[in-house]
Amino acid sequence: MNDLGNTDIDRGHRRSGIPVENRRIIDAISAKIDDLPTLPGIAIKLLEAVRQKEPDIPRISRIISSDVVLTTKILKLANSPFYGFASKITTIERAIAMLGISTVKSLALSFSVTTAFYKKSDNGINHAQFWKDSVVSAVSTKLLAEKIRPRLSADAFFMGLLKDMGALTMAYSLPEEYARVAAAVGGGRNQFEAENEIIGFNHMELGEYLAVSWGMPEEFCLPIGCHHCPEKMAGSGSSEMLLRARMLHLACLFTEMLNASDMTLLLGSIQQLAKDYEFADRFDCAKLAEEIHEQTREILPIFDIQFKDKRDLSKLLDKAKSELAYLSMELVNTLVQKGKEVEFFRRQAATDDMTCVRNYKGFCEDLEREISRSQRYGTPLTILLGDIDHFKKINDTFGHLAGDEALKTIAQSLKEALRLSDYIARYGGEEFAVILPETDLDDAMLVAERLRIKIAGRTISFQESQFRLTMSFGAASMPMGKPCTKDALIQMADNALYRAKEAGRNCCVASS
Ligand code: GH3
Ligand code: MG
Ligand code: MG
Repeated sequence: MNDLGNTDIDRGHRRSGIPVENRRIIDAISAKIDDLPTLPGIAIKLLEAVRQKEPDIPRISRIISSDVVLTTKILKLANSPFYGFASKITTIERAIAMLGISTVKSLALSFSVTTAFYKKSDNGINHAQFWKDSVVSAVSTKLLAEKIRPRLSADAFFMGLLKDMGALTMAYSLPEEYARVAAAVGGGRNQFEAENEIIGFNHMELGEYLAVSWGMPEEFCLPIGCHHCPEKMAGSGSSEMLLRARMLHLACLFTEMLNASDMTLLLGSIQQLAKDYEFADRFDCAKLAEEIHEQTREILPIFDIQFKDKRDLSKLLDKAKSELAYLSMELVNTLVQKGKEVEFFRRQAATDDMTCVRNYKGFCEDLEREISRSQRYGTPLTILLGDIDHFKKINDTFGHLAGDEALKTIAQSLKEALRLSDYIARYGGEEFAVILPETDLDDAMLVAERLRIKIAGRTISFQESQFRLTMSFGAASMPMGKPCTKDALIQMADNALYRAKEAGRNCCVASS
């Protein structure tokens, strides 16, 4: 359980530089997650001990040495080629003397966090992959820091390891919604945009919130909160924090590249980004990728994670490099941009221009996905079809443009009245469709009734005219334990809607 009250979080956020006005995010997180993961006891003790003005080194050594497993791991790593000391390091005191207190602290925190949060079984997230990626990101951040600002390299490892804790927390605390995010990302959506839309905040914001609530040093928190978009930090952090955010951003791309089968465009993006961040003269991107790969291979076993990557990385990178040699930077940028455009157009094609909610195509895609999820997990799923009553009269009386305005207002009102995890689409002319995941027919009827009342109570203004309108709704649920197609479900909801119209309109009818 999270034992930090809001006041501590507020104080923390003020300290870390997040504007406290950003209450929306803090409120959204506290409304959704009341069980924030807490740090393991040893990590709390360590953080507390190093926060003192004069760190008490014998005390810190005692804290670490009291945990045999932790000590063994740190000594293994200290003696590996990762640090490359000639003489053997056999005690934590010696490790502190050789590596420095910051590095040993960073390693101790890294091992204790992974041990505490690593689960053998997956729960909405593939643990082995998540922690492997986190270690790649930790190694990348450390190596980048060594090349760019060695002073920051001691705690860079831990910062890189921690940057995606927000995603892990989402997967655990909001498994159903996170699965929808994962499905949307699989369909080509940008991860944090999908998180914003489906969950209401993203894993960077949650990661920063966690880091603050865990009492992490403030120079960690803001960079974690902007690790995919350091430019968002402009003006709100020190130049060193911006540097950290940029290193984390590059670490994301290195991690992505090392997972990709075709590395050409990602290598091109990394080279471009290194140039934009003015790091380009500090390292060769392909060489650094190999170094990251090698060091990760060495240290993963110490984290009890198997390294299964049997690919010949230098071959893949050589291929990427030779392909890049034939592409101008301009073309690489264009291709990367094209990839983004394809994504943009895909999203555009599923959005209704007038009301900005999903269109029929988008609705069908969402419904297909939700039906298969409902069948896989045995969770209820209900859809609503809503049709505006006597809409022709509105057009005839107030004009077609007033009708358009009414459609926009209704789409907005429906969206406002639904949960973030529900879907709303314009099904056709003056018909809307709502997908309610994890909602049975009874609960869906309450939602439909709430929507009906909201629409009936809303005044629509267009130029000089003001008018009201009503909607009729039909609801249908997936039959439990029986297969049902998308078309059959829509047909059931449509029949119910027809009955609502027959019953006099401005009412909701459930499919029987
Ligand atoms: P009912 O209560 O039976 O649904 O009556 P209705 O008049 O709403 O239904 P009908 O299907 O007869 O008419 C639908 C109207 O919706 C006719 C069509 O012109 C209007 N409509 C459809 N799309 C748009 C649009 O994009 N803008 C405007 N202004 N009107 C639209
Ligand atoms: Mg109608
Ligand atoms: Mg109609």
